[in-house]
Amino acid sequence: MKVRIDTDLCAGFGICVGIAPEIFKLHEDGYATVLVDEVPPELEDLVGRAANQCPAQAISLSGDSLTG
Ligand code: SF4
Repeated sequence: MKVRIDTDLCAGFGICVGIAPEIFKLHEDGYATVLVDEVPPELEDLVGRAANQCPAQAISLSGDSLTG
């Protein structure tokens, strides 16, 4: 699974970073960036949760192993 952040939408709430710090990092410019190219299977649930909870809906997921 891959994850992408739309930096036009991201408002830097940092919720994704709080949920999955292995995957997301808050950039000093005020938006989040993705640290990995491919999300490890064991972290897909967390990333899905982060995407659901992002207030700006800036996180998009792709790939064929989406869960939950
Ligand atoms: S939760 Fe959404 S708006 Fe907040 S930093 Fe992450 S991607 Fe950006």
